[in-house]
Amino acid sequence: MIDVIVVGGGPTGLMLASELRLHGVHVLVLEKEAEPTGQSRALGMHVRSVEVMDQRGLLERFLALGEQFAVGGFFAGIAKPWPDRLDTAHSYVLAIPQSITERLLTEHATELGTEIRRGCELVGLSQDEHEVTAELADGTQLRSRYLVGCDGGRSTVRKLLGVGFPGEPTRVETLLGEVEVAVPPETLAAVVAEVRKTHVRFGAMPLGDGVYRMIVPADGVAEDRAAAPTFEEFRQRVRVFAGTDFGAHSPRWLSRFGDATRLAERYRTGRVLLAGDAAHIHPPTGGQGLNLGIQDAFNLGWKLAAEVRGWAPEGLLDSYHTERHPVATDVLDNTRAMTELLSPEPGPRSVRRLVSELMDFEDVNRYLIEKITAIGVRYDLGEGHELLGRRMRDVGLKRGRLYELMHGGRGLLLDQTGRLSVAGWADRVDHVVDVSEELDVPAALLRPDGHVAWVSEDQQDLLSQLPKWFGAAVS
Ligand SMILES: Cc1cc2nc3c(=O)[nH]c(=O)nc-3n(C[C@H](O)[C@H](O)[C@H](O)COP(=O)(O)OP(=O)(O)OC[C@H]3O[C@@H](n4cnc5c(N)ncnc54)[C@H](O)[C@@H]3O)c2cc1C
Repeated sequence: MIDVIVVGGGPTGLMLASELRLHGVHVLVLEKEAEPTGQSRALGMHVRSVEVMDQRGLLERFLALGEQFAVGGFFAGIAKPWPDRLDTAHSYVLAIPQSITERLLTEHATELGTEIRRGCELVGLSQDEHEVTAELADGTQLRSRYLVGCDGGRSTVRKLLGVGFPGEPTRVETLLGEVEVAVPPETLAAVVAEVRKTHVRFGAMPLGDGVYRMIVPADGVAEDRAAAPTFEEFRQRVRVFAGTDFGAHSPRWLSRFGDATRLAERYRTGRVLLAGDAAHIHPPTGGQGLNLGIQDAFNLGWKLAAEVRGWAPEGLLDSYHTERHPVATDVLDNTRAMTELLSPEPGPRSVRRLVSELMDFEDVNRYLIEKITAIGVRYDLGEGHELLGRRMRDVGLKRGRLYELMHGGRGLLLDQTGRLSVAGWADRVDHVVDVSEELDVPAALLRPDGHVAWVSEDQQDLLSQLPKWFGAAVS
């Protein structure tokens, strides 16, 4: 029997499949599209996701095809400099189209032995105590021990489970067009800057080769939100705001997005779980959605693998919901706040001016960027050292870099004392005896997702923590 069926071959599903494969789990990815769409909703990757790629040895591939920018403007488009002191080795945004991210993640998943079946749409689902049965559109039935819905915001898996998706519907809609224009870049930039003085939901971003991604407020909310706008509708809205459509031509992609904000009530229903957009939707402001999905997968992968391989301690798989649901709650909240700050109404514009002034304080600016980039995430692992529950940043060791030692997705004891032992867990946890000038803790136990599970130097204390994350010792 298949161990895990992953429904959806977007960024979340691909990342999850790879994480499971690192632990030898038999994974099948079902993707309804016969071919990649080539569309790129997301254009960027934030710090924590860049770190995740580094932790799995993928950084070079991503850096080779992306561009690094240390520019502000990610909080509600308020233009402030990138903060000076971000606690990371990767203090930048990686501009990389989603289509390339998906291509690189597909390569990685395939290299690790993932089977990806395209043109396979899941339409039915049932489960009992032991297994899940998935039904495909062509009538095929597949059985697996677990199934994860990574099938996007309109998730079939979520609907079939009957999991509630409370929140707000779209009230404000934006049209998106990737087009070429007939005016010089300076003219376009000057007009856009003028319009943005009053309408910050209007914008144009150069994508290279003379193509711009233009966004413009729609006229109300479309009845059929899944239908793309016509090119004429798009140009007409651009004219309403800019007084010209810049001679826009050769549209390469037309779409619409809203500000619907919803969060799945639960991430786990028996043997079926939800991750990525299937579990949460929110407006694209701040560019967080793809990142959130990749990080869901990074949290879930090793826990589900532990369950499949039989060493998961009680409650480990449920901690996926406990840890990730609050993170999504926070992202939904910050996108709600940013949506208010984009309103052209006088009240929100005053609040925007005030937030802008506050962001001149370096600490405020940094706090907001830590939120958007997700390096501020701290799982609630109880009282303790300030690192507990946070991801550890990459640090230099005598033998190289910490993240270079994490490619296999195992736990890691970083031991600066040389007196500790993980005997009994050596098949799941690496013991690295080394020192770092950048780290002032004697020892730290890192989970496979790089979050700190323990900080101390006491062997007895360590022995009490190892089973909590890595199950029983083997002799
Ligand atoms: C305009 C716009 C700009 C954005 N910009 C950013 C950004 O800069 N940064 C960022 O982080 N995020 C951004 N996002 C959000 C980002 O695109 C999504 O959050 C991301 O794609 C979610 O990934 P996912 O894998 O969870 O879902 P998806 O990418 O939606 O993938 C789901 C996959 O499941 C497949 N599928 C669906 N149903 C089935 C089924 N029944 N059976 C089999 N397969 C199925 C689909 O074909 C699809 O391939 C943006 C979104 C928009 C709209």
